[in-house]
Amino acid sequence: MVLKSDPIDRIVIVGGGTAGWMTAAALSNQLQANATITLIESEEIGTVGVGEATIPPIRQFNQLLGIDENEFVRACQGSFKLGIEFVNWGDNGQRYFHPFGPFGKAFDTVSLHHYWYAAYESGQADPLDDYSMAWVAAKSGKFAPPERDPRNILSTFDYAYHFDAGLYARFLRAYSEQRSVKRIEGKVSTTSLHPDTGFVNAVIMESGELVQGDLFIDCSGFRGLLIEQALQTGYEDWSHWLPCDRAWAVPSARGEFTPYTRSTAHQAGWQWRIPLQNRAGNGHVFCSAFMDENRAADVLMDNLSDSALDSPRLLKFQTGRRRKFWNKNVVAIGLASGFLEPLESTSIHLIQSGIAKLLALFPDKSFDESTSDEYNRVAAIEMENIRDFILLHYCLNRRQDGELWRYCSNMPLPDRLSHRIHQFRKFGRLVPGEKDLFGDASWLAVHIGQFNWPERVDPLASFRKTNYVEWLRRIRTAMETGAAQLPTHQEYVARFCAA
Ligand code: FAD
Repeated sequence: MVLKSDPIDRIVIVGGGTAGWMTAAALSNQLQANATITLIESEEIGTVGVGEATIPPIRQFNQLLGIDENEFVRACQGSFKLGIEFVNWGDNGQRYFHPFGPFGKAFDTVSLHHYWYAAYESGQADPLDDYSMAWVAAKSGKFAPPERDPRNILSTFDYAYHFDAGLYARFLRAYSEQRSVKRIEGKVSTTSLHPDTGFVNAVIMESGELVQGDLFIDCSGFRGLLIEQALQTGYEDWSHWLPCDRAWAVPSARGEFTPYTRSTAHQAGWQWRIPLQNRAGNGHVFCSAFMDENRAADVLMDNLSDSALDSPRLLKFQTGRRRKFWNKNVVAIGLASGFLEPLESTSIHLIQSGIAKLLALFPDKSFDESTSDEYNRVAAIEMENIRDFILLHYCLNRRQDGELWRYCSNMPLPDRLSHRIHQFRKFGRLVPGEKDLFGDASWLAVHIGQFNWPERVDPLASFRKTNYVEWLRRIRTAMETGAAQLPTHQEYVARFCAA
């Protein structure tokens, strides 16, 4: 006999930043008016107001909502992103690229990087970046979406966006309101809990209005109004691994319209540069234990490539995660669920994956605990994998010019990450993790880019008779020819999606 479920009737989302409106948009699209959705936000409190670089899965999120790409890019002052250029991370003066998409084109069961490494070591190949279609296009400022035909070299890259997250939230608000999401403006002052179960019954507004719900989504940002202040879920602190705890952010004139994000390491942190259509977003993420705030602001302002459009704004954070992302009838999404510094542009992605998990495990009013346990299990793995990937950049640094870098190159690492670093160093092996967001190419880019070079190559590579030096040469030529056919990033945006 199939058990009848007792469906959720009322969903309350607290918070209208990127997390709140992405959640409202996706739920209104998927639930199709079978539950009421109310979103509460306070203009007086405002949003965190940063968050401009993304990774490729965001495209699937927009597609799920049926959003037209050009319309979205136009509305959000958007631009296109083929990856991240890391400057001064391995060592001062050195650069490498983390591309969206693979290096080369697979021609064997042995991964291409083993052949590349053998050729490079004997002086018969160029740096690894030059075998990435994303970089070959990006370095010459070119962009068009990838081709679909897998035989075409221009199919071997992926892309994401840079955009103004405030405009994205506004765009999604219009989308959600068209689908019957009710918005309440004002501040939540308290939360009413059920005396027996401890579940949230309602939130009470400063105006005295009571907003009742069955399921509550906490998108209230770092404060975690429901998940922490009401339910006291607890926070797992990761700042011993990722000690940066502050960022100064400032917009500047746009300048160079690169189809990629740039991350430049400094003495006690790093600086981002994200070009949008109307300006560039810049920020200096730093560790306050190793640099004071005033000095950190100077570092940012002294290293802008174009003139500042405003004064810098300070943001404080603590890296880590809630002990539970889903507790009782509250699911925390966005900054309320935890925070990883924006080095690999993963926060908006974590919002997206929180929403996807919620939809895949959508509860009924029984709120079976095994459902929230499963959500929490998967969310924890995903976040730990991203944490380890970010950590990889810090621990592999060779800079010795600041306390932060010395600390990071000597700190004890999570066991799984140590294993992955060891396997690559010894054998050039890329050990996959469960639910890994970042695939082989991403890990490879950082290992090679930051000098964790293998001691040997795959023994199977030497059994092959392939003329891999010639194969590499052909890939490189095909990529250069392919890139030459692409429009510039500027031309592409002007033609299809100028704001
Ligand atoms: P917020 O933007 O803080 O929104 C919280 C909402 O809750 C607001 O609407 C507020 O009004 C409401 N609220 C709070 N309390 C109350 C109350 N009592 N009553 C009513 N309403 C309330 N992410 C990326 O993907 N890429 C990046 O490049 C990137 N860069 C970043 C750089 C920095 C320095 C930081 C700190 C973050 C960055 N992020 C980035 C993360 C990104 O900004 C956030 O993930 C994203 O904006 C989501 O924020 P949020 O909606 O969870 O919280």
